[in-house]
Amino acid sequence: MPNKPTITALATPSGESAIALIRVSGPLCPDIACQAFCRSKATAPRQAYLGRYRSVDGQIIDEVLYTYFAEGHSYTGEDVLEIACHGNPLIARKILEDLEARGCQLAEPGEFTRTAFLNRRMDLSQAEAVMELIHAKSEKALEVAHRHLRGGIGDKIRTLVEKLTTLCAHLEAYIDFPEEDLPEEDQTGPLAELAQILNEVDRLIETHQFHDALSQGVRLAILGAPNAGKSSLLNILLDQDRAIVSDTPGTTRDFITERITFGGLNLELIDTAGLRQAASDLESQGIERSLQVANEADFTILVLDSSADLPDLPKDVLERLNPDNALVAENKTDLPSSRDCSQYLPALPHLRLSALTEDGLEPLKQHLHQKLEALVELPGEATVVVNARHRHLLASGRQLLLEGQQKLLDQIPAELAASDLREALETIAQITGSFDTEDLLDQIFQNFCIGK
Ligand code: GDP
Repeated sequence: MPNKPTITALATPSGESAIALIRVSGPLCPDIACQAFCRSKATAPRQAYLGRYRSVDGQIIDEVLYTYFAEGHSYTGEDVLEIACHGNPLIARKILEDLEARGCQLAEPGEFTRTAFLNRRMDLSQAEAVMELIHAKSEKALEVAHRHLRGGIGDKIRTLVEKLTTLCAHLEAYIDFPEEDLPEEDQTGPLAELAQILNEVDRLIETHQFHDALSQGVRLAILGAPNAGKSSLLNILLDQDRAIVSDTPGTTRDFITERITFGGLNLELIDTAGLRQAASDLESQGIERSLQVANEADFTILVLDSSADLPDLPKDVLERLNPDNALVAENKTDLPSSRDCSQYLPALPHLRLSALTEDGLEPLKQHLHQKLEALVELPGEATVVVNARHRHLLASGRQLLLEGQQKLLDQIPAELAASDLREALETIAQITGSFDTEDLLDQIFQNFCIGK
């Protein structure tokens, strides 16, 4: 019996479907591929075979397609067998039970990818990218996840770690000669190098601001006085009657959120309670929550009823609106009493439309798309977006780098500065898992689905 376990799991969602895929990884795979399909010859790798899967007691469970991947050339780095059976949960369960009877263990969530990492098929940031790829909700997020999967983050981190290693080696050379201070001319080089490394760390940290917009979507708040047409606008943006449209002011008491894909972008639309002097406690709570949501939104559409008096909206909300994060939608232009409101918040772009006739909807959508694209547009040459774990490690590393820098500037013995830099290096290297711990691995892989 081999020491290493052979793991198995359903790789497709449970439930009825055309096909279900069962994954097996580990040393038992070549034998299973022969025994379950009554083959006398070894299974050739990377070739799809059509065969009848037979249980250990000889019963045919299903006619399936199976593919074998040899050790060193598979997703996990181990021998892998993929069995595509008919998508009936009963069939999948019977095959999984039979695989258990043949000595396989049911895999934990993320165990296939964890094995791939442990077998050095990918670094930790690539393992995380697998999950990003599965959960990506927009084309942009997919593109970035693909970049990460190709090792984009790992490349950047490895370059940083290499630079830091060289710098540490340079400084540590003086540790053997403690009586000698770092000559001034030798100090300039490391300081300049350190400044450059710090700059790169800062640039990587900055990319995090795009992470939430990419993974969770851009948060778009629709604000305005009651009855201005906020819900109607949300509905036409959504193309369905999700929000409650009513001609009694104050219907949308709290807020409604809806996820949509808008021109390849993942959007979270938030229709808020009408902003006005509240008539009841309940309404005032709704307005309070609306203000909170509006403050956290990435972009705000302020809806005006262009046929009515201009609203007196809370100052603190209006103050944070600027042409990059807001626009004014002058609604109800179909009404004869509609008039130009461009003098209201003149610094913001104004677009006139009728949510009723949909006149002016296209220009509004185009303007919105352009602005929202800018929110997820990666700055300059940035090609990667760090997640919260990476940002935390980079920020801790940065702090240590700053401490090392100060010691160099204060002419404190080079070995102390080197010790800070080495600690920074180890911290930053955890991004790719070069200095991993079991805890860290558990934390990352437990968020995976079973079968990945
Ligand atoms: P909210 O309270 O801001 O969400 O406003 P609603 O979307 O519920 O709309 C309030 C009322 O105004 C409803 O009767 C809508 O049918 C009406 N309404 C919304 N947009 C327009 C528009 O562009 N033109 C006209 N004539 N009526 C509109």
